[in-house]
Amino acid sequence: MTTNGDVLIRVENLQKAFGDFHALNGITEEIHKGEVVVIIGPSGSGKSTFLRSLNLLEVPTGGHIYFEGVDITDAKVDIDKHRQKMGMVFQHFNLFPHKTILENITLAPIKLLKKDKAEAEKEARVLLKRVGLEEKADSYPSQLSGGQKQRIAIVRSLAMNPDVMLFDEPTSALDPEMVGEVLELMKQLAQEGMTMVVVTHEMGFAREVADRVMFVDEGRVKEQGTPEEFFANPKDERLKEFLSKVL
Ligand code: ADP
Ligand code: MG
Repeated sequence: MTTNGDVLIRVENLQKAFGDFHALNGITEEIHKGEVVVIIGPSGSGKSTFLRSLNLLEVPTGGHIYFEGVDITDAKVDIDKHRQKMGMVFQHFNLFPHKTILENITLAPIKLLKKDKAEAEKEARVLLKRVGLEEKADSYPSQLSGGQKQRIAIVRSLAMNPDVMLFDEPTSALDPEMVGEVLELMKQLAQEGMTMVVVTHEMGFAREVADRVMFVDEGRVKEQGTPEEFFANPKDERLKEFLSKVL
């Protein structure tokens, strides 16, 4: 949860256009190792596009992204190699429905990290135990609750031993009573020093866990700060309006 000053991701004048529509209008930011950055903003403001650009799920139409010092927007870079170090968790879990929980977790470590099956399964069971879901190893995603599925999606990302975790509204699709268990796991990760970029509408999480809160509007970072200053003293008019609706 602390910031030690080392830059993990540097975004330089990031732009993304879909045809004539400019979703990102020149974002320059640094994410430091161990930092937890929470991104908030109105629907359609570019939050997902920004997050997805960080691991090149969206290919920027301008600017650069340096991850661990490497310009991953350079076409010569093997993006798969770098993407493996960036875990991503979506609103809709995206588990493989026809694979068991254990298979969901071990698939990428076996295929991409070339781990042998027994080792990958052993590690997966440790992770499952950690989130209290070890008895679900042989279940299928459809047999789990939304909160359990999302915790498995997080664990599946962790199995790749990522250097950063990107979360795009991880609790937005959950029934209210399941939001807490997912946020609690994310909070634990933050406390263990995981670098995290989190798009969320959970202002309590932002206040409690974020090192920095960022307000994105119309494809720009309009305002940011520590949660204390950000929530106590918002300056941007659109941010004030936004906060009056969500707080
Ligand atoms: P947010 O996550 O903040 O709700 P998004 O990043 O998903 O916003 O979208 C930002 C804007 O870019 C929206 O106006 C959206 O309609 C547009 N957009 C996103 N993806 C695409 C796409 N693949 N093609 C065209 N427009 C898109
Ligand atoms: Mg979004």
